Amino acid sequence: MNQTSFVLKGDICYSAGPNELYTAPDGFLVCLQGQCAGVFPALPEQYASLPLLDYSGFLVTPGLTDLHVHAPQYTFRGLGMDLELLDWLNTHTFPEEAKYRDLDYAETAYRRFVDDVRAGPNTRACIFATVHPEATLLLMDLLEESGLVTLVGKVNMDRNSTPDLQEISAQASAEATLAWLEAQAGRYQRTGPILTPRFLPSCTDGLMERLAQIQQQHHLPVQSHLSENQGEVAWVRELCPSSSSYGDAYDSFGLFGGADCPTIMAHCVLCTQDEIALMKARGIYVAHCPASNTNLASGIAPVRRYLDEGIPVGLGSDVAGGTHTSIFRAMADAVQVSKLRWRLSDQARAPLTAAEAFYLGTLGGGSFFGKVGSFAPGYECDALVIDDRRFTPAGQRELSQRLERTIYLSEDRDIAHKFIRGAQLF
Ligand SMILES: [Zn+2]
Repeated sequence: MNQTSFVLKGDICYSAGPNELYTAPDGFLVCLQGQCAGVFPALPEQYASLPLLDYSGFLVTPGLTDLHVHAPQYTFRGLGMDLELLDWLNTHTFPEEAKYRDLDYAETAYRRFVDDVRAGPNTRACIFATVHPEATLLLMDLLEESGLVTLVGKVNMDRNSTPDLQEISAQASAEATLAWLEAQAGRYQRTGPILTPRFLPSCTDGLMERLAQIQQQHHLPVQSHLSENQGEVAWVRELCPSSSSYGDAYDSFGLFGGADCPTIMAHCVLCTQDEIALMKARGIYVAHCPASNTNLASGIAPVRRYLDEGIPVGLGSDVAGGTHTSIFRAMADAVQVSKLRWRLSDQARAPLTAAEAFYLGTLGGGSFFGKVGSFAPGYECDALVIDDRRFTPAGQRELSQRLERTIYLSEDRDIAHKFIRGAQLF
């Protein structure tokens, strides 16, 4: 897949900030060697010789970033949605993830996940695999082949799981992680590793210490879960009695952000004042997963507060806590749950707007990957061409309204074309 230079004509929408939605009806998006050169109402003369891809009448937006998703859980979406987090993990998640030691099973399951994400609106993702290094590499091979740009983590867990899944010791988990890192080194252009302690209840102190060493030696980003569910937070308090909060426990091991440790924490539903201050100081990215937080009775994350505090936030599908991979769906869910939070518990902070949800699913999460998620000059050119005529007949709505309806009504089949770093996937 070669990077290319071209001009894309269509009805263009993109965010430059939470409240900065730009629209360019019949606009021109210029892509030079995979990077955006800008969006123009009329094509500047200097770009007139580039190939023109004329998608007049179609909506053009940046690709979407799924900041938190579990690939091995794609197989059991929609099951156990009447349970709470810890029961759901033991009943459905751990038995399913144990199956990925079988590479034939893993290949069939991961191929379906990758094919479906490729066909939808997400262009980037931060992905949890399982504890198995071989199956994790296989997932990375499939993702690389797909053209998606992803960070993938071999999961670490050496306690509180089932015997057929849990790693036998901190040392064994660390050694498997190092072997996996070595096997993937230099192998990919679009796929990278991310260190993935599942969550504190799954990792002994000895494992967290080893992972911190690996993080420093290999300069890896980190992803995990934070303050998701009441039962889980109470459990962490028991497991880490000397820590002032769940976040403080990660921080005590050196696995909680900072300049040399870019970190995504999923959920952040029940964070305390001190924990939020620490997240802000460490530059933690919040992966807001509204569908999962609803399905597993976790609650509603205070996203408005995070935005007001300047804490970076993106959206996660959290399949299979969430049931759908599309981050358009997560945008709609984010608006909905923010209105319930406002109505039921916190009228001091306004619910999210559609434009803000669009920002979270594009630039908000995309920025974890660098200059990603916008069409401002210098951004990597990840673009969707969406045929929205199935639900908005031509000429009936202004562009921002077409975008809002796309957030709520679009399905994967409406994504007509998809570009990542300027390469056309379809
Ligand atoms: Zn998760």
